[in-house]
Amino acid sequence: MDARRQVLADTDVLTVGHRIEAVGQHLDAPQGAIVIDASGGIVMPGMIDTHRHMWQTAMRGYGADWTLTQYFVWYYLESGKLFRPEDIHAGNLLAAIEALDAGVTTVLDWSHGLRTVDHAEAAVDALQSVPGRYVLAYGNIQQPPAQWSTAPEFRDFVRRRITGDDMLGFQLAFDVTGDPAFPEAPAFEAARELGVGVTTHAGVWGATSDESIRLMYEGGFMTPQTTYVHAASLSADSYQRIAATGGSISVATESEQSAGQGYPPTWAIRAHDIPVSLSMDTSVWWSGDLFSAMRTTLGADRAREHFEAHLKGETVTHCSLRAEHVVEWATRGGAHTLGRDHDLGSLEVGKKADVVLIKNDQSPVSFPLLNPYGHVAFQAQRGDVHTVLVDGRVVKHEHRLVGIDLAAARRESEATAEYLRSALGDEAWFRGMNPDIPESKVLDNPYTYTEYRSDATRSTRPEV
Ligand SMILES: [Zn+2]
Repeated sequence: MDARRQVLADTDVLTVGHRIEAVGQHLDAPQGAIVIDASGGIVMPGMIDTHRHMWQTAMRGYGADWTLTQYFVWYYLESGKLFRPEDIHAGNLLAAIEALDAGVTTVLDWSHGLRTVDHAEAAVDALQSVPGRYVLAYGNIQQPPAQWSTAPEFRDFVRRRITGDDMLGFQLAFDVTGDPAFPEAPAFEAARELGVGVTTHAGVWGATSDESIRLMYEGGFMTPQTTYVHAASLSADSYQRIAATGGSISVATESEQSAGQGYPPTWAIRAHDIPVSLSMDTSVWWSGDLFSAMRTTLGADRAREHFEAHLKGETVTHCSLRAEHVVEWATRGGAHTLGRDHDLGSLEVGKKADVVLIKNDQSPVSFPLLNPYGHVAFQAQRGDVHTVLVDGRVVKHEHRLVGIDLAAARRESEATAEYLRSALGDEAWFRGMNPDIPESKVLDNPYTYTEYRSDATRSTRPEV
C-alpha cells in the first residue's frame, strides 16, 4: 500500500517499537521477536475512519430505519440533550473497541454531543482507555459554534487534555448553515488560532449547501486541513473551490445512501481530483466497519456510472473506480485527510506500526486469494481480521481482542440504553425506533392473473 500500490507476495513486515523497521522477504527477526504467521492472509495498513460519531454507539442499531429527518429530531432535539458524560463515555468506549476489532486503527471522533466540558472529559477518558489512535473533533450541537469554541472552559480543556500526544489528535467539528451573516466565522478563527483543522458536514441535503461553501471560501477558511463530510449535494463550483484549496472529502456511502444527504459523491468528485477518505458516520444505523464502506462505495460509484451512461443510451464497458482505489481511500486517503501522510496509511519503513492481518483459515472465503485488492474490498469482513497492531502493540490476535474489557463496555452501554429508554418513556422510545412507514400501493397491473395470485401467494408477500 505504498504510492505505487505495490502488492508484495511472501513478504515479512518487521516492527520495532512504534514503527515499521523493515518490509521484505526472509527478514531476520531479532532475538525475542514475536512472530505472527500471516501465510495465506493479507497484511495491510490499519484502516482509518475520518468521521464517526462515536458517542452514539451505545444506541447501536436503534435508527436502522431512520432518515436524516428522524435522526435530527432524535439527536438534536430529544435524545441528544439527555446524554450525560457517562453516556458519552459508554458510546466512545464501545466505538473505540469496535473499531479495533474491525482493523480500524485510527478514528476521527466527530464528537458533537459535548454539551459541557465534562462531556468532553468523558470522551477523552474513553478514547485514552483503549489502545487505538483517535482524533477528537470537538463539537456541541446544543450551542452555536462561535459560543462554545470561544468559551474559556473550552480553551482550558484543550490546554489540559490535548497535549500533542501522537495517539490523540484534535480538530473542531461544526456545520455551516449558510446564514448570510456567517455566524460560524469565530469558530473558524478559533481553529486557526489553535492550529487545528475543521471538519464540517457539507453538501447535506436540506441542511448545508453551496452557500455554506461560498461563505467559507470568501472568509478564507477553506484550507488543506478542512474536511468536508458527505459533500453529497454540492455544485461543480463548490467542488472546484474544495479542490483549489486542498481539502478532503470524507465519504460515508452507507450513510448517504439511506439517510438522504445526497447521492454518494465519489462518481462526481473523481473528476475534480479531490482527495477522498472513507467513514461510517454512526453505529446508530451502520456498523463501524470499513469493509462495508469500501464495498458500498464501489457499488454506489459504479451504479451511478452505469445509470448515467444508460440515460444517454451508452454502455460502460470498463469500471473507472477500482478495488485498489477504495482500499487506498480507507488507508492512505484517511492518513491524508488527517494530515498524517508522513507516518500513517501504508506499510513502509519508518511509518507507525498500525498493521492489520486479514486471515481466517476457517473461512471458505479466505481462498483462493488471487486479487488482494478485490479480496479486501468485496470478500473480507470484520470476522476475518486476525491480528491488529496499533503503534506497534498487538491489540487483536487470532481473532480475539487483547487486553480489552469487553464486559465493562457492555455494562456501560447497556446502562446508557436503559437510562435513555426510561428518560424518554417506553412509548417515545419505541416510536423513535419504529418511524411511520409512508403509505404506498401496488400499481394496477393489466397482466395480473387473479387465478395465479392465489391467497397463498398473496400471504407471502410483505405488506407495503
Ligand atoms: Zn456525520
